[in-house]
Amino acid sequence: MTEPGTNPDQTEKSRLERLAKSAFLGRIGHEFRTPLNSILGFTQLLQQDSATSLSINQQKKIDNIEKAGWHLLQLVNDLLDLTSIENETVEIHIATLMVDASISSSIELIDPLARQRNITVSTEVDKNDDELYVRADPTRLKQVLLNLLTNAIKYNKDGGQVNVSGELSKPDTVRITVSDTGSGIAENEQAAIFEPFTRGSTSLHPDGTGIGLTLVMELVTLMGGNVGLTSRLGEGSSFWIELPRAKKHEMNNFEETENVAGVDLFLNESIKQDLILYIEDSPLHTQLVNEIISKMKGAKMASASTPQRGLELAQALRPNLILLDLCLPEMDGYAVLKCLLQDRNTMNIPVIALSANAMPEDIEKALRSGFRRFITKPIDVKKFERALVELLIDEGATKRV
Ligand code: ADP
Repeated sequence: MTEPGTNPDQTEKSRLERLAKSAFLGRIGHEFRTPLNSILGFTQLLQQDSATSLSINQQKKIDNIEKAGWHLLQLVNDLLDLTSIENETVEIHIATLMVDASISSSIELIDPLARQRNITVSTEVDKNDDELYVRADPTRLKQVLLNLLTNAIKYNKDGGQVNVSGELSKPDTVRITVSDTGSGIAENEQAAIFEPFTRGSTSLHPDGTGIGLTLVMELVTLMGGNVGLTSRLGEGSSFWIELPRAKKHEMNNFEETENVAGVDLFLNESIKQDLILYIEDSPLHTQLVNEIISKMKGAKMASASTPQRGLELAQALRPNLILLDLCLPEMDGYAVLKCLLQDRNTMNIPVIALSANAMPEDIEKALRSGFRRFITKPIDVKKFERALVELLIDEGATKRV
């Protein structure tokens, strides 16, 4: 139904414009991520080699290149998120989440960052009134908490403290507060820091872009909540978000934490010369992945630079795992996957999508189509290795049944 006073043609036109803008931004994101994959991938490999071949001075320079690469990637991701929120093309999938678990899984991710600066992170979740649950999108809630936690560390002093608490602020509202002992924010700047690209004058850090808090506010609002802060200069800040409370019985089967425990233990015995086929048209990306796989014990790689050759090799070699670039000439990754799934000889081989397209809708589409995992370029080498090992172990287990 159209709202009174709006012209249906106009509404349709602006919807199409928004979709076109979103597709254009997705394309730009892809164009940034593709070269970043080489920059970050090869610097990570150089760092792994560094003990033997690089001087300390050279290692520091590589470190700086890597840091700048991840920073640029973060900036691209934040800008894309912000624009898809503005274009109203962002998708929010609300689920019932346990507050305690959401907080702990986010803290786990920032723990290394806190340790580097000797910062203690503690939690305090009110359990007087049964477990606390909220209604929120799990990925987006994690993104919000990570943004607040990263800031609480970034703008803190060495040896400082961060506390995350969860409590009922109203009978049907849960408040999560991230407090720090950092520089604090002047009162007259507190409202403005939620505006895009605005930064406080008393808390500056080289790794900042001024988009994080804007995203926090927009995402929490989209999930039906509010944000706010209290802060005193020189003493610290407390950023809070409020989300609708949920009841335990509304809990669905969503598994929030990735189960990766034990992977290293199985690494040696489970991968016995497993063959991974990589179908990719970029020689640089093929070289990068080949170097990563050649360092994994018991795994080897074959590669194909065209979809046709990839399908032939899949038939002939029956690899244990296929890595498939989505953006291939003549036939895209989805068409290749379809051929693999239709063929009795290849239909059971797990296929991982590798792509520089990283919009949530790209990932959902790929998983719906039958890809077992979606790995975004630039590749995080450790996560990439872990995904390969997990799938190879699964695959081995399925074959043994
Ligand atoms: P960024 O950290 O990338 O600059 P944000 O949007 O996350 O961008 O934050 C905007 C500004 O708010 C920061 O530049 C900083 O000046 C201030 N700020 C955010 N969080 C804190 C904090 N915990 N303590 C002090 N200042 C903060």
